[in-house]
Amino acid sequence: MASETVNSAKEKVDGSVRDARPRSAEIFERGKKTLVGGVDSPVRAFRAVGGSPLVIDHAAGTRLYDVDGQEYLDYVCSWGALILGHAHPDVVAAVSDQAARGTSYGMTSPLEIELGEKITRAIPSVEMVRFVSSGTEAAMSAVRLARAFTERDLVIKFEGCYHGHSDGFLSEAGSGLATLGIASCPGVPDAFARLTLNTPYNDIGSVETLFRQHPQKIAAIIVEPVAANMGVVAPAPGFLKGLREITRRESALLIFDEVITGFRMAYGGAQQVYKIDPDLTVMGKIIGGGLPVAAYGGKRHIMERVAPLGPVYQAGTLSGNPLAMRAGLATLPKLEPSGFYEAVNSRTERLAEGLRAGLKQSGVEGVVSVAGSLLTIFFAKGPLRNYSDAKKSDTAQFAKFFQAMLARGIFLPPSQYEALFVSAAHTDTDIDQTIRAAHDSFKTLKAT
Ligand code: PMP
Repeated sequence: MASETVNSAKEKVDGSVRDARPRSAEIFERGKKTLVGGVDSPVRAFRAVGGSPLVIDHAAGTRLYDVDGQEYLDYVCSWGALILGHAHPDVVAAVSDQAARGTSYGMTSPLEIELGEKITRAIPSVEMVRFVSSGTEAAMSAVRLARAFTERDLVIKFEGCYHGHSDGFLSEAGSGLATLGIASCPGVPDAFARLTLNTPYNDIGSVETLFRQHPQKIAAIIVEPVAANMGVVAPAPGFLKGLREITRRESALLIFDEVITGFRMAYGGAQQVYKIDPDLTVMGKIIGGGLPVAAYGGKRHIMERVAPLGPVYQAGTLSGNPLAMRAGLATLPKLEPSGFYEAVNSRTERLAEGLRAGLKQSGVEGVVSVAGSLLTIFFAKGPLRNYSDAKKSDTAQFAKFFQAMLARGIFLPPSQYEALFVSAAHTDTDIDQTIRAAHDSFKTLKAT
């Protein structure tokens, strides 16, 4: 990091120097001997942005504190799980209380039923739900169910969308695979990969073509209703409605992967905003209030095919975990009052406006893409409609911007292809601080 950047960090934030993290570096080096790449999820290794990754000691509200005692304003928020920010007192109290009552029962508790009822009330298309422990598991199980229900094998997914790391989803996927440039994953048998048909997001014509090419063979379309794993790309007008019409006509299922958008775009998810009634919905992140929970759910006559009611097997030792259910139950009621989403979204919009102004002033080429409280700054020319457009971004420019922001105490997702998450804990002061830091950071980049 250039010394002038460090000096400006000193002046403009609070005097700390955030590129010097000796203890973090030492712990990370130690971790590399035991954890693969020093991490448990690839994007945490900062491969796309360089430099020494953050090693976190604790977190509160919008702030992360590293083991060097430095503070960061966090826009990752556990990849969107923490819509109330870190360590919300009510979530902490619920989890602490529950821990003393037992951390896992291996049997049904009223907590699962209560959270299930909250979800089915919030999202009318979800008439029945099954809790699992990760979004990967939820998406994989929803696809298995769709295949069983339709007695067909093929699944359409969109390039740049991410649905977890199960075998069938690891081609042309977004998220960490986009970050690391992995187009297909060794270890996935060709026979599995061939069952997934990839096609460009926002291109309804290509979906029609696939149905023509594979009549009566396509079980489902799975889609992120707002794509957030190639950076944020909103659905074009009519795209989601088109998917609904085609799947109905072709007797295939429409699966909304709302792991990111569920309880984020609105209390009823993206399907409420875009007024679409999918057959199955995959959820995660916010429903678990920062603990490992995900779920899939949908129409009763489809969900009834899942064991023990039906033959489609799926199970989990920690599924419906009481600690996690309590965290979810402490979170969701805070999102329900009217005005909650308007407030978070308007702060996000203000952030977007500030970033756009900064890009303009500095002459740096970029597009600020926003949907609800999801935001990505693409260092690319607009418009961005799909993964090929997103991949034209200048990722070296992104890396410089990321580091310049980090030096000013702002932690962004360490990849061009991830969303920033604004939470209800982010204040106007946080947003102002971020905009100021961004204006300074843009000035350190090359104008185009
Ligand atoms: N679907 C979507 C849309 C996601 O964004 C993610 C993860 N970010 C997943 C599925 C997988 O969830 P998990 O990481 O909990 O397995």
